[in-house]
Formats: sequence, C-alpha cells, structure tokens
Amino acid sequence: MAPFAHARVNLDTIASNARLLREIAGGTPLMGVVKADGYGHGMLPVARALITGGATWLGTALIKEGLELRRGGITVPVLSWIVPPGEAVGDAIEADIDLGVSDRAVLDAVISEARRLGRVARVQLKADTGLNRGGVAVSDWESVVEIAARAEEEGVLKVSGVWSHFACADEPGHPSIRAQLDVFDQALVLVEKAGLTPEVRHIANSAALLTVPEARYDLVRGGIASYGLCPIPGLDVPGLRPAMTLESRIALTKRVPEGSGVSYGHRYVTDRETTLAVVPLGYADGVPRAATNKGPVFVGGRRRTIAGTVCMDQFVVDVEDDAVEAGEYAVLFGDPAESPGVPTAEEWAEVLDTIPYEIVTRIGTRVPREYV
Ligand code: PLP
Repeated sequence: MAPFAHARVNLDTIASNARLLREIAGGTPLMGVVKADGYGHGMLPVARALITGGATWLGTALIKEGLELRRGGITVPVLSWIVPPGEAVGDAIEADIDLGVSDRAVLDAVISEARRLGRVARVQLKADTGLNRGGVAVSDWESVVEIAARAEEEGVLKVSGVWSHFACADEPGHPSIRAQLDVFDQALVLVEKAGLTPEVRHIANSAALLTVPEARYDLVRGGIASYGLCPIPGLDVPGLRPAMTLESRIALTKRVPEGSGVSYGHRYVTDRETTLAVVPLGYADGVPRAATNKGPVFVGGRRRTIAGTVCMDQFVVDVEDDAVEAGEYAVLFGDPAESPGVPTAEEWAEVLDTIPYEIVTRIGTRVPREYV
C-alpha cells in the first residue's frame, strides 16, 4: 500500500548536482556535506549518489555520522567536525575519520587517544577566521599549530587539512568574505612555517563555491547545493535541480457551507460553500506550524495555500469546487522542472522567513524517504 506521504529523493539528481558543482568550481575536488541525515534526504543513499557524481570527500558534523558512513561501507575520506569533550575520538581514529580540531582541548584528546591506540590520527585544524563559532581563535592558532606539528613529528598525528568556514557567504560581496580569506591566508602561512603540509585547505561552502572563485583552494564543501537548493535567494544556477519532492495523499475531502471555521482556532473561514481536502502531514512531520494560512501546496493541478492551522498530523486545503478526491497527492514542494507548478523548498523558506536548509532537515522520521 502506498504510504500516507513520502519524501521522494531522486539520487540521479543528486549525482548530477555534484557533477555540476565540480564544473562550476573549475574541477576543484568536492566534499559532499551529508550531516543531519543528508540534509533530511537520507545520509547513506545521498553519500553514495554524491560519490557517483564525483565527490571525493564527505563531511559530517558529528563523529557518530562519520561512523555511520563507515558502517555503511563508505571508504572515501570523511571529515567530522564537531567534537565536544568526551566524544569517541578513538572510534573515529580507528575508522580513519579526519577530525576537525577547533580548540586545544580537542587536539590534546586526539593526541592522547592516538598514543593509546598506537595509531596516526588524521586531523584538520579549523581556523576561526571571523565566524566566531567553531574553530581555533586567531590568538591560539600559532600554539595549536605548533602542538600539532610536534605531534606529527612524534608520529601520532597527521595534519591532513586546514580549513575554515564563512559567516556571510550567502551575501555576495559582503566585506567579511574578503576579510575571512585574508585571515585564512595568514593562518596558512603559520602552518607552512611550522613545516606542516596539509593535503587539503578549504573554506568554501555552497554559497562561496557558487560565487567566490578565490575561495576554492584544494576542496569545496557542497552542502545545500548538492541537494539542488540555492543558498543565495534569487541566484539562478542553471542545471541545479532540487532532489526532494514532499507529497502526501489526501486523506479525505468534504463539502462545507460558507462561513465554516477551519482547523484549530478557526484561523481560516470559508467565504462560500466549498470543498476542503485534509492532508495527513503536520508539524510532527516537519510542516512548520508557522505555515498556517501561508504554506503553498499543489493540489488538483493548481497551487493553493494551507487553510487554517497546521496541526500535529494534518492540515487542510480549500480546493473550492475542483474535482479533488481522497487518495490524490498534494505536493508541498518538489522540482518544478519535473512537475510544472509545484512549489520549491526555497519558496517555503521565503514564505516562512527561513532558509531552505531548515525546510528539508525538519522533515520527520515518520515520513518515509523513497529513492528513485
Ligand atoms: N561546512 C560547514 C562547517 C558547515 O557547517 C556546513 C553546513 O552548514 C557546510 C560546510 C555546508 O554548507 P552549505 O550547505 O551552505 O553548502
């Protein structure tokens, strides 16, 4: 039986997005970013599709995600970058996962685990060049680099990468982009002075990959764009296609008279006799409650707007006098090039004053992912 709803993910689209991103980046190697369950698309299938499309690295936030990739048979280099105290760095070292180092404490923990295991730990030193989130502060950079260099000499560490992350790459021309590149270049000078020879230097996320050629270095990290969503509102990237379609079968329809209040709080009131279609997806499935009276939905060959409050498991659409029946699909977002008229995740983001990342990563575990 067909499920009540599904997030259909086109893996060929993901592979071809990866090819396109490599082309746009002038052939610079691509790290496919697959954290947060592949931005909600399903980490392992997405990882394999990205590799098919030419990604030679994968990136995750958590070590747990990196380990899941290894357990899934992924052998390409993996970087995992959020390493809170007490994390299983030993497991990561044994699984040959590169660890992002954002402060001295992580470096010390990795060095002592590597000594205990008698293994060489691969680390990528992350410089905080201005995001002021993760990354080694400029004031600590030299000493962290020196400690890493000594550990390399001792044979317990390989500094496989040096990297950073932008604060405002989604605002082309923002002065912080150039400023961060300058700080990054200074950080790299100190790395070279210490005699370290990292395999990869990287700072570009999707937005920088698309718009800042000088940010490419040896590797670009493609997250959101790999999924076919653009990080820069209004930027047209020909050939980039959204990989995910979120749709649900209409559970029931009913005729109601003029003046009927719809869903909790009666925030929508019918202005004539009409047909309501009930769609069994709600905020528990990642349709934000803020989409009340706002979320675009494609039903019965037309685009409409959610009528009234989004509930935990369902919402309502006013389909007027159109011949819409239970069992038909309501499409929340997808690929308009494949299905003309369907909304995009970017449009959902715009309507809800957020970013497409949040739209796709919020889709709940109750919604099955289907792969084509
Ligand atoms: N690099 C880091 C450190 C990140 O946190 C992220 C995602 O937030 C990415 C790369 C990928 O960014 P994007 O999805 O904008 O390409």
